[in-house]
Amino acid sequence: MPYLKDRCLRTVEQTMQRLAPLIYTSVSPLKITCYATQEPVDYAHRAEGEELRLEEGGKWGEKVFDCAWFHFEGVIPAACQGKPTVMLLDIGGEGLIVDENGEPVQGVTCVDSGFDFSLGKPGKWVYPWAESGEAGQKVDFWMDGANNDLFGVMRNDGRVRLAQIGIWDKRLFNLFYDLAVLVDYLRCADQTSARYNQVLFKLYDACVKTDAAFSPESSGELEEAARFLCAQKGGDAPLRFTAIGHAHMDLAWLWPIRETKRKGARTFATALSLMDRYPEYRFGASQPQLFQWMKESYPGLYERIKEKVKEGRLEVQGCMWVEADTNLSGGEALVRQILYGKRFFKEEFGKDIRVLWLPDVFGYNAALPQILKKSGNDVFMTQKLSWSQHNKFPHQTFRWRGIDGTEIFTHMLPEETYNSPILPRSLRFAEKNYADAGVCDEALILFGIGDGGGGPGMEHLEAARRVRDFYGLCPVEQAEAQPMLLRLKEKCFDRAPVWQGELYLERHQGTYTTSARNKKYNRKMEIALRELEFFCVLSEKPCKEQLDEIWKEVLLYQFHDILPGSSIQRVYTESQARYKMLAEQTEALIRERASALAGGKQAFFNSLSWPRETVYQGADGVYKVTVPAMGCTFDQGEKITPFLRAEGRTLENERLIAAFDESGALVSCVDKLTGRETLSAPSNRYAVYREYNADCWDIAIEYTDKAPEYFTLAEQSFRVEGVKAVCSQRYTYGNSVIEVEAHLDAGSEYVAFDMRVDWQEQDKMLRTSFDTAVTTDKAGFDIQYGLLHRSNHENTLWDKAQFEVCGHKFVDLSEADWGVSLLNDCKYGFRAKGGVIDMNILRAQHYPSDLTDRGVHTLSYALYPHAGNEKGGRVKEKAYEFNIPLRFVPGNAAKAEERCAVKAQNAIVEALKFAEDGNGLILRAYEPYGTHAPMKITLDGTYRITPCDLLENPAGPAETASAIEGEIKPFEILTYRLTR
Ligand SMILES: [Zn+2]
Repeated sequence: MPYLKDRCLRTVEQTMQRLAPLIYTSVSPLKITCYATQEPVDYAHRAEGEELRLEEGGKWGEKVFDCAWFHFEGVIPAACQGKPTVMLLDIGGEGLIVDENGEPVQGVTCVDSGFDFSLGKPGKWVYPWAESGEAGQKVDFWMDGANNDLFGVMRNDGRVRLAQIGIWDKRLFNLFYDLAVLVDYLRCADQTSARYNQVLFKLYDACVKTDAAFSPESSGELEEAARFLCAQKGGDAPLRFTAIGHAHMDLAWLWPIRETKRKGARTFATALSLMDRYPEYRFGASQPQLFQWMKESYPGLYERIKEKVKEGRLEVQGCMWVEADTNLSGGEALVRQILYGKRFFKEEFGKDIRVLWLPDVFGYNAALPQILKKSGNDVFMTQKLSWSQHNKFPHQTFRWRGIDGTEIFTHMLPEETYNSPILPRSLRFAEKNYADAGVCDEALILFGIGDGGGGPGMEHLEAARRVRDFYGLCPVEQAEAQPMLLRLKEKCFDRAPVWQGELYLERHQGTYTTSARNKKYNRKMEIALRELEFFCVLSEKPCKEQLDEIWKEVLLYQFHDILPGSSIQRVYTESQARYKMLAEQTEALIRERASALAGGKQAFFNSLSWPRETVYQGADGVYKVTVPAMGCTFDQGEKITPFLRAEGRTLENERLIAAFDESGALVSCVDKLTGRETLSAPSNRYAVYREYNADCWDIAIEYTDKAPEYFTLAEQSFRVEGVKAVCSQRYTYGNSVIEVEAHLDAGSEYVAFDMRVDWQEQDKMLRTSFDTAVTTDKAGFDIQYGLLHRSNHENTLWDKAQFEVCGHKFVDLSEADWGVSLLNDCKYGFRAKGGVIDMNILRAQHYPSDLTDRGVHTLSYALYPHAGNEKGGRVKEKAYEFNIPLRFVPGNAAKAEERCAVKAQNAIVEALKFAEDGNGLILRAYEPYGTHAPMKITLDGTYRITPCDLLENPAGPAETASAIEGEIKPFEILTYRLTR
């Protein structure tokens, strides 16, 4: 007679499903008074909104993100006498229960909330009231409600779903979680194993005896069997897991920043209340910005957080100020993420963070290992590469080697999620999936509900208790993550495999382009902050407080759903309004300093670490002037007669001849010095691709299979104007318009394009491309503190999967002695396959942000043919110059004086700033091309020069000199403190 195992399993599952609704019983409805507002109000003003008296089913929210204070009242009924008593609360959104002083007690989440349901249900709707109910006791408490679920969606039509006093049957509660764990085990176990059969048949035999009410008489055998089975041990473990509770908190995403602050309070309050019930519970949270918000808005809660950190039960995690995007954020910004992040956790909690914690960021640049090591980090933790669409990343525990050769120990969660349900299948999958289990015997698990916060619920902690050392599974212990990661590194570093280069995520390539205005503001702010720090030094007028504030806000907007473009529209409306103010504030601070330095004289300022030439239109003619490195000149320069022509659809200066055709395309660009033609086909045509299977994150890999449409040229004219030869063109496509001025400036080595586009499309992508005459098998991309080469072919699936990649200020194709770069002032998404450089200008997606990027945009880019390869062509320097114009301060003609603070050879100075502690200056330089080179950095006087790490801690012996000299290694980042 065959066994009908499937039928047996179904019976056990059905028994569990029958049991679930019996755990909590509603016995008496709560009286609900609600005070509704559109924006949050604090506890003191809780009764100032529109007063609504509601019953279950009553409506309080009109729009998503509406707010309301709920006042719940009632009397404990006789049925609760002596029994565990709970409040059952589901307002259709999220809520924060507070005590009589307004202090957070616990968060709640509607049961209909969105989530990845394969990982469990995210609802938190039970508020434990008393272990033993007292009939007649008054119930009176408040809750700060939000008309959104965890994922920023309005649920249940803004209506209260449930508000009841209830009884908690703990016997059935325990039985339910025993069954939940055992059923999950049965679903993932090997059906041929003896263990599987033992569990299945023991449970089945007992299940058939239970009655509908699970009376103690009928379910006694089931309880005993379940308890017995849950107590079975795991045996000798090949692998040990460390688990810690987690609530991945996107600082803005499908909700605005203001709601994140409230999500933070709900999440921390829940974690702290569960710690009281579960002594073994360990919870972790990252991002000092989130803690800063708690400190400002929920000081009482923040003090309780501090206590738990001190007790070692709440771990502060990760070295960055926010979990920042690392494709788009500049090098110096990443350094500041770590500087501000580490400092906060040190000052506030006394914790030395040594781990980069980025579980959910869309790819990791190849400069990060060096940045991490030089800022006191030992381990990088993520899981995101498991999201790659075409190739499976081969490791979870490995040494990640960056462009300069630095290695950082890296651990990726083998469970491939930071929202683990911590059930048997979690452990089973993590064990099976752990590619590096041969060289390491530990791994990390993050369990809970995340993305919109929330964190673990009782279900996670009940499961975690049961799987600690469970029948045939690897054991799992709740503990802090950093000690485990450092231990893993100590044990495994030497044997761990190596991955060289960037950690490219084969997904979300649209995030290099979506929400173009934020990306432009980010680039401009990174540059403006660099300028401001330089001008502070040059003028000896620091403004540390303002700099700290502006930096931190710029760092916040680098969060991995803001800068990438994957948030809702409100996040962009609000951040752009703030960016505008930050940009104005920064510019005013710079201008103040520049004017003070100029003292009424005409002056040119140069913040770059090499001298620059410029040609400008003076009152009585055209002048050429050289501006010293990191300094200024009051010299007018020499009068010149530039050579400029604009006729016959051709622009020409001393260096280049650029020709256009009647369609507006650039058809030729000849480098007059070498005589080389730059292009092999008509270029700079504005191509519009229809985007199918796409959203704000993703571009479909097959988008090139359908030929694009092109903007049509409507007007074209050529002229010489001042110091420029200009070709003005106007194009149309549907309701969209492009106006572009292509220009060759006097003495310029590139043809520049200043573009204004009024973009009115939906689900389309605007690109331009340059079909170069370069023969090479790789393309060079500007990245943080260096240059990254990627293949420009599609030989393998790994090459093909990189159909769109991230670059910063330039993309370059070079032969050994000649090449072509495309420079840009605000773009990040490129395709470089074959000899073509293709730049993504704008997208137009509708989820999660509607009408993304509709409207007017301006941008500039330039085609730069050069002798030599990237280094020979000084491509990095040109790209900096294209992004950072000289600053001109009008004034009176003065004597030919000049000033130079710092001048660098074979290195680029990325930062010159006052030291964080006020003691002297900090100078940071790097080698830009990947060469060993003799570096010389000349200073404007004698200094005591101390080598430092990126956090400005001493890292070598000091010496007194007026220059820093020595060999600099490929892509090496060097930091010095200069004191007088
Ligand atoms: Zn995230």
